[in-house]
Amino acid sequence: MDIMSMSIEQLAERLAEMGQPKYRAKQLYAWMHVRLAASYAEMTDQPKALRERLEAELPLTVPQKVVMLESKTDGTRKYLFRLADGNVIESVWMKYHHGNSVCISSQVGCRMGCSFCASTIGGLVRSLEPSEMLGQIYAITRDTGERVDNVVVMGTGEPMDNYDNVLIFLRLLTDENGLHISQRNVTISTCGLVPNLRRLADEKLAITAAISLHAPNDELRRKLMPVANAYSIRELMEAADYYVETTGRRITFEYSLIDGVNDSASCARELAALLKGRNCHVNLIPVNPVRERNYRRSLVTNVLQFQKMLENEGINVTIRRELGSDIDAACGQLRRHYETGIGAESGEG
Ligand code: SAH
Repeated sequence: MDIMSMSIEQLAERLAEMGQPKYRAKQLYAWMHVRLAASYAEMTDQPKALRERLEAELPLTVPQKVVMLESKTDGTRKYLFRLADGNVIESVWMKYHHGNSVCISSQVGCRMGCSFCASTIGGLVRSLEPSEMLGQIYAITRDTGERVDNVVVMGTGEPMDNYDNVLIFLRLLTDENGLHISQRNVTISTCGLVPNLRRLADEKLAITAAISLHAPNDELRRKLMPVANAYSIRELMEAADYYVETTGRRITFEYSLIDGVNDSASCARELAALLKGRNCHVNLIPVNPVRERNYRRSLVTNVLQFQKMLENEGINVTIRRELGSDIDAACGQLRRHYETGIGAESGEG
């Protein structure tokens, strides 16, 4: 296990094996997770011999910034980072009135195959280590010089397909000895891997779960998301209810609106019937057109109509505010354009 993925107890154990005094674990942990050191060289109060030994036995690596695009309209920043093995991943930094949010990737690529998503086109390369998820947040904090208030695991990858590492990441991120981000300020978005969503509920964390629904019935959902062949909407709703009961947290449903595909009045009615009475919130996302797919975003009037129909049934709805629409901000597009050498196209949000 790499040093930045270790709990403070694991680190203490490892350092004890190296004959180090107890207080070292606390110091090193704080250097990594509070002061966000990017190398042992920065840990100037640590003995040189120890730093050299750590460098050899437990190398500390952090994601390296390769590209940073900043939106001229709203200050949103999109980062491309290179990992120690050469893979690249992307993350986004957004400024909201309620604080700074970072959207991180949980995998290099994705194997879920959603038909509207750019992240899955090249398939899954590998899952990220806990330290690589933290590393995105730490690198952005260093780069902006501003504290991150909210973390959303909504970048490339399916977090519930990297369950163990995501859990370790969550514990480190919210640890009072580390950056200490409040669990309430963390959101995990999943396409709906039902067994792991139930497992997540059983962890009884105060994080928000967001479920990518995108269709009100199985037939349509199966056309958009292969995961719908494995789990029905009924099973997904039962897992969602279980999450709410177990954690006391309201659940979010994400619904990306695709022109002529899932944005009709009958879809809205069906969705309203499905969600009525549930302790939930719906986030409508006008789909981001992806070059390799021929989906178009719903017309603004349709989006508003869709929202209204849900609201009339007493359902809580917001339309995702578009940030960074002048930079490559749709899921997976920056990485994809970087790797394929295709330039950014304006209008993708
Ligand atoms: N794998 C996770 C998290 C990653 S995507 C999940 O499926 O939830 C975060 C959200 O963006 C998901 O709801 C996803 O379905 C949606 N999304 C992906 N590509 C999109 C696109 N081109 N336009 C709009 N939403 C998209």
